Amino acid sequence: MTNKEFLGIIKKESNPNDYNQYLKQLIYKKNSSDKKIAIFEVSNKYIATWIKSKFTHIIQNCFEIFDGTKPNIEIKIIGERKSKKEILIQMQKNETAESTMLNPSYTFDSFVVGSSNQMAYNASIAVSNKPGIQYNPLFIYGGTGLGKTHLLQAIGNFAIEQGKSVIYVTIEQFMNDFTFSIKNKNMEHFRAKYRKCDILLIDDIQFLSGKEQTQEEFFHTFNELHNAKKQIIMTSDRLPSQIAGLVDRLKSRFDWGLTADIQYPNLETKIAIIEKKSELNGIFLTKEIINYIASSLDNSIREIEGVLIRINASAALLNQEINLEMVQNLLKEQIKEKKEHIKLPDIISLVANELNIKPSDIKSKKRTVAVANARRIVIYLTRELTHNSMPDIAKFLGMKDHSSISKNIQKTNELIEKNENFKLVIKNLKNKIVNKEW
Ligand code: ADP
Ligand code: MG
Repeated sequence: MTNKEFLGIIKKESNPNDYNQYLKQLIYKKNSSDKKIAIFEVSNKYIATWIKSKFTHIIQNCFEIFDGTKPNIEIKIIGERKSKKEILIQMQKNETAESTMLNPSYTFDSFVVGSSNQMAYNASIAVSNKPGIQYNPLFIYGGTGLGKTHLLQAIGNFAIEQGKSVIYVTIEQFMNDFTFSIKNKNMEHFRAKYRKCDILLIDDIQFLSGKEQTQEEFFHTFNELHNAKKQIIMTSDRLPSQIAGLVDRLKSRFDWGLTADIQYPNLETKIAIIEKKSELNGIFLTKEIINYIASSLDNSIREIEGVLIRINASAALLNQEINLEMVQNLLKEQIKEKKEHIKLPDIISLVANELNIKPSDIKSKKRTVAVANARRIVIYLTRELTHNSMPDIAKFLGMKDHSSISKNIQKTNELIEKNENFKLVIKNLKNKIVNKEW
């Protein structure tokens, strides 16, 4: 792919703000010889970091669209070496842009409401109408790709229209900003920025886990805003009480306001979402195709969206009308590809991380309840999501033979049948693996 071709695709795949502000600065150089890494250049470190943390997915998508590959992305810096001071100035300049880095298409209008997200939606509307008064903080939680970021940014977009000052950051950006400010002895600026906004939107707060210094700083930010009756809204993939390594005083503060969850959508809602997304993107799908997609994909809405983009791209590339057969083939291919990309060690590290145990324990002979449970889940997910055979899995985990693997799978199936909670845990983990959240 040439640089021009790359820019052409990414321009279509990203929103105009992101493209104009950041992505068009990317220069695609080449692939590594084994094609596993795509190398880009940009002119400064800040932009490189920002693009890497926010847009890796989109960049990978471009390759997927172009030739079906999914390389890792490496971004190098070219050009002049800037002094710390220059970078700092640049960063502050970018800040206004960064803090309103909202995706303009994430609005309340484009959000489909169903029973799975009704409560979170209502709460978001309520805080938008009366920020800082009724529910403070608002804590939205739910599985991956179910619309948390969309809702959070819809609140932000609405507030900006009302002339409010809004900061939207992921907790990782907050943390980076914080460490950067400490290093550069610029805490005043940091504090002024975060403590003076009307509405603070913090995405993926579960990553505060174990980050003590950032928690301390966030605690003060929270108090200051809360005292001044400024609205705080957070999202997380789990409840505050389930975030390991979160200090109690934050846990209790997160429960002060309202906690609202987003569940997996039912078939009806999935259909409504597909209808809305295809309408927004100018893709024409028959009822039959919409039903087929909605019933074949039980995971995240992000995944459904990915499929729509693929259908559209492939119809355009092949200059072909979208029909059921084509969609069926695409989905089959997608499932096959997905299996090739997911590796057993990745499953182990994700499950271990989520269940808060050591990855090495899963491969050990330990038989504590927690470890046995995690191992069972790893086995189950590996069978579901990869092509590994039972003997392969047994060998990798240092287990006797494939019969112990099949026993574990049987046991997991029983648990899923019997226990709704366990079923949900499995679904969430599956979702994270499929979305490559490790
Ligand atoms: P999360 O932050 O929970 O992982 P996102 O908010 O990023 O999920 O949602 C993933 C994608 O699915 C986004 O493109 C979003 O627009 C879309 N989406 C999720 N829920 C809905 C909904 N109810 N209506 C319309 N689009 C949705
Ligand atoms: Mg999100």
